[in-house]
Order: sequence, then structure tokens, then C-alpha cells
Amino acid sequence: MSRVIFHIDVNNAFLSWTAVDLLNKGYRMDIRKIPSIIGGDESKRHGIVLAKSPVAKKYGIKTAETIYMAKKKCQNLKIFPPNYSLYKEKSNQLFSYLKQFSPNMEIFSIDECFLDMSNTTYLYKDLKQLAYTMKEYIKTHFGFTVNIGIGNNKLCAKMASDFEKPDKVHTLFQEEVASKMWPLPVEDLFMIGKSSAKKLHELGIKTISDLAHVDLSKLQKHFKNNAIVMIRHANGIDDSEVTDGKYQTKNKNISVSKTLSTDTVDIEFIKKVLLQEAEEVGRSLRKQNEYAKTIAITIRNKDFFDYSHQTKLKNQTNETKVIYEVALDLFLKTWKRDYIRNIGIRLSDFVEDSHYQISLFESEEKIQSKSVDQTIDKIKDKYGFDSIIPASLLTSSVDKSKNTR
Ligand SMILES: [Mg+2]
Repeated sequence: MSRVIFHIDVNNAFLSWTAVDLLNKGYRMDIRKIPSIIGGDESKRHGIVLAKSPVAKKYGIKTAETIYMAKKKCQNLKIFPPNYSLYKEKSNQLFSYLKQFSPNMEIFSIDECFLDMSNTTYLYKDLKQLAYTMKEYIKTHFGFTVNIGIGNNKLCAKMASDFEKPDKVHTLFQEEVASKMWPLPVEDLFMIGKSSAKKLHELGIKTISDLAHVDLSKLQKHFKNNAIVMIRHANGIDDSEVTDGKYQTKNKNISVSKTLSTDTVDIEFIKKVLLQEAEEVGRSLRKQNEYAKTIAITIRNKDFFDYSHQTKLKNQTNETKVIYEVALDLFLKTWKRDYIRNIGIRLSDFVEDSHYQISLFESEEKIQSKSVDQTIDKIKDKYGFDSIIPASLLTSSVDKSKNTR
């Protein structure tokens, strides 16, 4: 029997949730209806647009641009700070409501989840009607809107929820793939990032249909084994299960290393590279909901001599800031003051979320820094890894030979 999967996605989550919260607190304006954004502190490195209202969008304001730029485009722009604990609360509210419809739910991100509805047909006669009922209930009772995509697998459900927004239900069943998905530009396909899209366009592959019909061996020359998955996705094929995450295999260690554009002893430059690497490995670790107890630094000098050093932490972490500080400290202790060709960070010795205890003395600043990490992860998930880079990194030029495993 064919499967039926729902993908539920909150429309403009951060901004909508803030709007609902403000209205509940007696704020007179619905910030979804005025030029408004959610944005970080301008004076810090996170002074960027995290979410924007539809009106702000009309002014040409874009997610991930600086608040400074956004204000130039619209002088009476209202700016609201991100509030991760509010997002978490709204997200929990949504997921606990949705969970009643199927025991099989996969939380995909803070505002998105999959529901496997395959074995519920004896409960609900018309699944599409049920999706409308869910959507209306969420709007009326929680005050924000969602899109629901319905398909025979996760990929199609996810693609469907993205079709037209907001407040819509769409289907993308196997027999609809050719008519509804193939005409779309190839960059709209799930998992096709900016750089892949660019390469595909260079190869003359402009639509999802082009990709669905491309010769595998031709694509493999450029995308190696990813080519198989790309072509399967373009044909609407995806066998992955809706899983609650418990049985997913996780990485035992996570590492990244970069070959620098020139051999260097410039400590300021090395710091920038380390910060960028800390963000990458931290993000991978946060994705698998784990914390590292060991951090290592790997160094290769201009004569291809490798050396490294590692340390065991008192408190496990997956926080970018902590990883960076420990890595830098390790580097300064280890570095022989020779010219560096390649530098890397490796995390290992992981423990589960549940073992992590927030110290009673954990500062407010630290809790905030965690929220910022999570917010930025979310944007990077959506817009690709290069969308947000701390301002201090913007001037660095690094040859990305990434080996995150
Ligand atoms: Mg969303």
C-alpha cells in the first residue's frame, strides 16, 4: 500500500509567533501587517534580518541582510528581537497538537514536522479534508498559519508544502510529480543548495524536469554519488522513513579542516578560520542533538608536517563560542610558530542531550548565545551555509576543503 505523508510548515514562523505573542500581551498592532522584521543586535555580529513581514518584503528587505541595509530600504521599519524561548513554546504547542493524529511524527526543525498518516485511513476517511481541519484549528486556536503538503513520501510532502503560501494545503502525489513539480526551477528541489544549482545551470539543467531526465553518468562526473539521490528526488522518489530520530545513526566524531589560501603565521587570520570552523562543527553537532566532551585541533605546516593537540572539557558543549575559545586556546598552546598550511577542529566523545545539565551558574549571556546559535542554524538550513557569516569573517578568503564526516 502506498504511504501518505503530511509535511506541516509554519508560515513565517519567527515573525508570526512574535506577532501572536505581542497581540496576546495587548499590543495594538499586528506586526505581520506592517513593515517589520525580527533582527539581532546591530552592535553585535548578529545584526541581521532573521525574518521579515510580507510588507517589509515589499520594500525589498531580504532575510540575512544587515539591519543597517534593511533600515535604508524602509525608514519606519519596526525591529523586534529574536526570542528563542517563545519560539520553543509555540513550537511545542504545535507539535503536541499534531501528535494526536499519528503516533509517527518527525520533527524536522523548530517550525516543521512530518506526520506519517499511512496507517490512519481507518480513522480518517478523507486525509485531505483532515489537513484542512488541522490548518483551520491551528489558525483559530494558536493564531498563526501553516502550510500542509501531502505526498506519498517525505520529499513530495515537503515540496508540496512549499508551493503557494501562506495558509494552504497542497498535494503532490506520485501521479502529480510531472505536472506540478517538473516545471519548477531546479534550485527549488529539496537539498539543492546554491552552489549545486549554479553548477546544474552551467550544465544546462534548468528545471526539475531536466534533472529528472539527465543521464546519470553525466551527472556523476560532477556530483559523484549525490547524483543518484538528486535524480531520484527529481523523479519524486524517496524511501526514507518518518522517524522520531531515536534510530538515526549519528556521527561518532565531527571534523572540519581548511587549507588556507596562502601559508600564514597571521594569527588574526587564523582566528577567523577557527571561528568559521567552530561554527561548522558546532552546527553539525547541534543537528544530531549531542554535546562533545573532547575538542582537538589539527595543524599542518608548510612542509606538510602534521601535529595536533586535544583536551577533555569539564562541561560538554555544542556551542560555537565555546568550541572556538577552546580551539583557539589549544592552537596557541600547540603552535610551533611555523607557517600554517591547513588547520582543523575535531569534536569527539559525544553525549546525548539528556545527560546535559544546565549549570546553576550558567549565565544569562550563555543561554542567549545558545539561542543565537539555534536561530542561525535555522537560517542556514533554509538559505544555505554561506548565508550568514560573522562579520569578522567576511574579509577572509579560505579554500574550503571540508571534510565533515
Ligand atoms: Mg516555516
